[in-house]
This record gives sequence, structure tokens and C-alpha cells, in this order.
Amino acid sequence: MNLDAFPSARRCPACSAVVASRRSRLCGVCEQPLPESVRFTPDEAAQQAAEFQEIRRRQKSSDSEAGTGGMDSYDMGSDIASDPGAC
Ligand SMILES: [Zn+2]
Repeated sequence: MNLDAFPSARRCPACSAVVASRRSRLCGVCEQPLPESVRFTPDEAAQQAAEFQEIRRRQKSSDSEAGTGGMDSYDMGSDIASDPGAC
């Protein structure tokens, strides 16, 4: 699970305070109402991300029959630098 994918998540848009309690609908610091995206739990976000990747994976596998496989992080950029051929 990569929580670094959500750097701006769980922060109050009004005062930028980290939202400690995701279940509260108001910011604990400035008491402004929090948007749904802030109140999302990491589990929910990860679940949606997993579903999204699953869909993309199916699209890819149906796209290329050659199937080099295992390139889930293809569009993440940093992983391209490492040599996938090294065993
Ligand atoms: Zn706030």
C-alpha cells in the first residue's frame, strides 16, 4: 500500500491542517466542513486505486497478446530506469 500516492489527502483545504479524525465532518482546527475526498479512509482510497489498476491491467492484457507481463508500474516513471531484464 503506497500512501505516498495521496500526499494532499486528509488535509483541511481551509487551513491545511492534517485531518486526524477522518470520520468527523468538520476540521478539528478551523471547524470548516471537510470535503468527501478528505474524509476518505486510506482503505477506501486504496480499494478504488486497486480497482482502477485492475481495469487498466485487463485493458493492457487484451491490448498486447505478447504479454511481457509484470509491468504494472509502467507509467510511474521511476521504475523505468531500473533494468527489468536483470534476473
Ligand atoms: Zn481546517
